[in-house]
Amino acid sequence: MKYSIFSLARNALSGHRRWPRAWRSPAPAKRYDALIVGGGGHGLATAYYLARRHGMRRVAVLEKGWLGGGNTGRNTTIVRSNYHLDANAHFYEFSLKLWEGLARELNYNVMYSARGVLNLVHSPADMDAAMRRGNAMRLNGIDARFLSRDEIARWMPNLDCSPSARFPIVGGLLQPRGGTVRHDAVAWGYARAADALGVDIIQQCEVTGIRVDGGAVAGVETTRGYIAAPRVGLAVAGHTTQLAAMAGVAMPIESHVLQAMVTEPVKPILDTVVTSGAVHFYISQSDRGELVMGGDLDFYNSFAQRGNLPIIEHVAAACTSLFPSFGRLKVMRTWGGVVDMTMDGSPIIAKLPVDGLYMTGGWCYGGFKATPASGWLLAHTMAYDTPHELNAAFTLERFAQGRMIDEKGAGPYAWAH
Ligand SMILES: Cc1cc2nc3c(=O)[nH]c(=O)nc-3n(C[C@H](O)[C@H](O)[C@H](O)COP(=O)(O)OP(=O)(O)OC[C@H]3O[C@@H](n4cnc5c(N)ncnc54)[C@H](O)[C@@H]3O)c2cc1C
Repeated sequence: MKYSIFSLARNALSGHRRWPRAWRSPAPAKRYDALIVGGGGHGLATAYYLARRHGMRRVAVLEKGWLGGGNTGRNTTIVRSNYHLDANAHFYEFSLKLWEGLARELNYNVMYSARGVLNLVHSPADMDAAMRRGNAMRLNGIDARFLSRDEIARWMPNLDCSPSARFPIVGGLLQPRGGTVRHDAVAWGYARAADALGVDIIQQCEVTGIRVDGGAVAGVETTRGYIAAPRVGLAVAGHTTQLAAMAGVAMPIESHVLQAMVTEPVKPILDTVVTSGAVHFYISQSDRGELVMGGDLDFYNSFAQRGNLPIIEHVAAACTSLFPSFGRLKVMRTWGGVVDMTMDGSPIIAKLPVDGLYMTGGWCYGGFKATPASGWLLAHTMAYDTPHELNAAFTLERFAQGRMIDEKGAGPYAWAH
């Protein structure tokens, strides 16, 4: 859609009247070819790719609240593909490549900013792990650079690189193509593009049951009535265990709260994403100037989208130990999301043991960066009833078969989101 300066001014002064809707708000039909449960980035991306790549038109996304109201609108927007193990490295690199072209693909500015993701290294053992990871990334054709402490100190004068720092810094591993993407724009961009291809996006529609007939999915019960469909894809993040249980499938997933917070906005002061596995902390600066930061889980199971003070205190302490001058900033907002933690830290993007039932989930700390690839691959798996080679390893059965994809604490945990 083209806008002139006059139409921009007219829209700005119109009190939002006559603004075109970005997507329709249809009543649910009685039957679809495919249903996606969950209107976060993953569900919307799956619906988009089902329509766009596989020509499926009778597709609906069912969302119990509003689009992006789950973890999609609550995350800290970091994207990267700095993984060690092949399955993860190829999957997340595919995602990063999709991010690089997504604004053009959707004709929607998702504000991908390749500002780099720098993992700080605090000890010789940490350095061994970083070198191993960086070398593995390079062997997989993924960008990785080692930085010395002096290079980092010159780049970031606010970071305490002195030998007497509470957590002395000995170097860093940088992925230059990593960075940030505007999270709610991703939900809106996929929603608008899916809607334009005929996908029904239905908000305020909670799935309350999954009907299984003779070992195959028949449809879903919702707060807006029964909807029949031979294929149902679950993309519900922290609610995966509840939805899968409706079809009698047990999940090796726990739901935990993950929190984040922002400071008051300041002038540009940090032009990359900085993470520290040792301190369990990461930080970046938003385009509005706020410092966006987070740390570890609230370590108890919960479905509440809010957390508790000890983690906020930990994050603030970690921040001031690494960036002492940031201690003068005020924290403006904190929030939490319900994350879906698998036992090996890697996702499940797969066909489930009930015919016609599929899922993408188990994102742990960091599924936002996976959004385009997860949607692309779940759509492929649903369209062909078989996985693509890029998600073939991310099965549910791997937990029973001992085929874990475990980055040994360094993937989802130490290298932050
Ligand atoms: C504080 C925080 C920071 C994070 N930071 C990062 C980061 O920097 N980088 C990164 O890669 N990842 C990050 N993540 C993780 C990332 O946000 C998630 O992995 C990702 O957004 C999950 O997307 P999704 O579409 O699967 O889930 P969601 O966006 O949560 O969407 C699932 C949707 O399902 C809906 N739903 C649930 N149950 C039902 C039902 N019964 N019927 C209908 N709808 C239902 C929910 O309302 C929700 O809208 C962070 C997460 C949090 C909480």
